[in-house]
Amino acid sequence: MQAKVMLGFDMETDIGSWTPFYEGLVRGTPKLLEVLAKHNAKSTFFFVGDAAREHPEIVRMSASAGHEIGCHTLYHETIGDELFPIPGVKPVLPEECCRRIQVATDLVEQALGDKVTSFRAPRLWGSTAVVNALEDLGFTADASYPMYFYKDRLIPYHPSREDWAKEGDMKILEIPNFADMTIQSKDEFGRDRDQWPLFRTEGAEAMLSHVDNMLGFYKEKNLPAVFCFYMHPWEFWEMPQGLVHFGEGSVLPDPFIVKNCGEVALKELDRMLSMLRDRGFEFATAADLAKEF
Ligand SMILES: [Zn+2]
Repeated sequence: MQAKVMLGFDMETDIGSWTPFYEGLVRGTPKLLEVLAKHNAKSTFFFVGDAAREHPEIVRMSASAGHEIGCHTLYHETIGDELFPIPGVKPVLPEECCRRIQVATDLVEQALGDKVTSFRAPRLWGSTAVVNALEDLGFTADASYPMYFYKDRLIPYHPSREDWAKEGDMKILEIPNFADMTIQSKDEFGRDRDQWPLFRTEGAEAMLSHVDNMLGFYKEKNLPAVFCFYMHPWEFWEMPQGLVHFGEGSVLPDPFIVKNCGEVALKELDRMLSMLRDRGFEFATAADLAKEF
């Protein structure tokens, strides 16, 4: 099988859950679409329901450019298992998952005027309750599994109703987000093996060295090489550095979260896509993978 790359863009407020602003979504998305068009890189755009309601024109702009539209929860809330603590956001109850995904999906579908069948959980924090809800709602792909954290599933798989991180007989396809499993991790959660946000903070070459490591790893194990990436529109528009004030206080994102957003990120994405094409990668959407696996 030809090596495949699935680019997933999580269409949310600036700096993820850290701000309520849509500057990156509105201004970064057109620039991102230009780079993708240059490489004919068909991708999946996972919209937060609130983003689709506030900016339906960005949903339609992304779909018109030939990309798949998916869902990324209602408000970028933590919908699955909390893998490590972050300030101010606690998970919704498992019994709330299905209803929230349904409301979010309705908003994305209203903006799109078509069905949505692919999902990604914010921060890749999925859960057994989430995949069960997705299966019941008719979704065919979920691109939430963080390879760096669970480590076991290295290629797309059909999960178990009892444990989403294990193989089973569900219809939905779970697509692991790639991490470099060939390097030693120095982080208690294995986050330094994850692909994000290396293209932006360290550059395209650094990212490709991890891609090459994993290409060798898949070849050695005789597994199909499928690389799933996650990125965000706000990475392609300059983000504020330092304290961001709104409401009744300020937040201070860690420096790497906002480093090189804007022109540098656009240039590195462009270079990364050239390098992937040079290596013979084929671009696939989540829906394409759901049909193939
Ligand atoms: Zn997100």
